[in-house]
Amino acid sequence: MAVTLPYRPARMQLEFFGAAGEVTGSCHILRVGRQQLLLDCGLIQGGGDAEQRNRRDFPFEAGAIDAVVLSHAHIDHCGRLPLLVKRGYRGPVYTSRATRELLPILLEDSARLAERDAERNGRAPLFSVADVAQTLRLVKVLPYDEQRRVVPGVTVCLRDAGHIMGSASVELWLEELGVQRKLVFSGDLGQYDSPILLDPYRMQDADLVVMESTYGDRLHRSREATEQELGEIVAMAVRDGGNLVIPAFAVGRSQDLLYLFGKYYERWQLDRWQIFLDSPMAIEASAVYWRHIERHDQEALRLREEFGAMPGLPNLVLSRTSEESRAINARRTGAIIIAGSGMCNGGRILYHLKHSLGRSECHVVITGFQAPGTLGRALVDRRSTVRIHGESIAVAARIHTLGGLSAHGDQDDLVRWYGSFEKRPPVWLVHGEPHGAQGLAARLGAMGARITIAQAGEIVDFAALPASDPGAPQPVGVSG
Ligand SMILES: [Zn+2]
Repeated sequence: MAVTLPYRPARMQLEFFGAAGEVTGSCHILRVGRQQLLLDCGLIQGGGDAEQRNRRDFPFEAGAIDAVVLSHAHIDHCGRLPLLVKRGYRGPVYTSRATRELLPILLEDSARLAERDAERNGRAPLFSVADVAQTLRLVKVLPYDEQRRVVPGVTVCLRDAGHIMGSASVELWLEELGVQRKLVFSGDLGQYDSPILLDPYRMQDADLVVMESTYGDRLHRSREATEQELGEIVAMAVRDGGNLVIPAFAVGRSQDLLYLFGKYYERWQLDRWQIFLDSPMAIEASAVYWRHIERHDQEALRLREEFGAMPGLPNLVLSRTSEESRAINARRTGAIIIAGSGMCNGGRILYHLKHSLGRSECHVVITGFQAPGTLGRALVDRRSTVRIHGESIAVAARIHTLGGLSAHGDQDDLVRWYGSFEKRPPVWLVHGEPHGAQGLAARLGAMGARITIAQAGEIVDFAALPASDPGAPQPVGVSG
């Protein structure tokens, strides 16, 4: 006699947890059958309640997660991994090779900051350097452009995202009880013509797209205009005879600047300068950038060939120790100083600004977003006096803001990336403030896409979504 088993629908769900309606704390929970995966596990940064929000329970049991797929090494995408491990996670963390190499640089720094803050506030740190060490042991490398089965029913493939070194968009083929769907998670997407890195990958198909929208309502200055502007600032600094001070983020912006100085070394007559990279973190991150030539674009490969090395700056000084950093302060002229932190809210840059801001012959270049309340923001806002280490300084130096070096693509870049899908799969927008997501939703909607701005806690049941094509997705070949 035939036995009828109770009907169970295929379970294929995505739950938005972090970076829904905001640009921080990226984390999405994917459930396929009995498997639970996380796409990213980022730290919430900025805002007065960030610390408190990071300490909250996850909406899942850490030990019950089967795998994590990590898009890139920025802290707002990986920064809660040590907390996940501290709370019991022992599974694999899949990511690219370059991301694995950047992770210790960023996570150890984050742990040291957490430990320092904890000491000040008299409470336990969110996680420790030991939690980071345990996390790093779980990291497994996925090669780009190869499909790998990571848990039963889930096959993934990393594709270039062009955002920072090692960054990836993730294609995921899911299968449960004979139902197959394909999800594409954009991760953070870069500009198409960014220095050094390959462009974002040309996607073809998906049943569901989860996409970032950070600059969904904005356009950056063109690459040519940005590079020309930097050249003009260098020329002004030569004319005025002081130093050129650049607060820069350790991963991405610092390497972009060194790369551009190498590219224009002769045209900008940079042999008159001594260029200092005054940040141990940026020095380590740069080594990862210059090592991974398989992720360099044509221009970077050509320049490397020409120089015989990267970034091709014979006058570059890597300043690792604090003595080396202090020695730079004795130089009154002819120094280009790249130092962290990028928003001038700590680090070695404060000493350089202290020695330069009061001098009208010095120039300061702000290369990225400056959060309200930071010294960097005060400089962008052209405040006439600022305070550094309790000392009041009248700002006489010339402050420039160079907007075009963003690691994030602008609205046109995001639209171009989505346009690479042959059909118009439905999109859930994440990783954007409401204005960014709405701006992008309007553009994508005009292309005929069905757009939803993801809400935290929202669950997309996508076994119920129509497959994009009868017979699709294609059967998946699993390698390795
Ligand atoms: Zn990022």
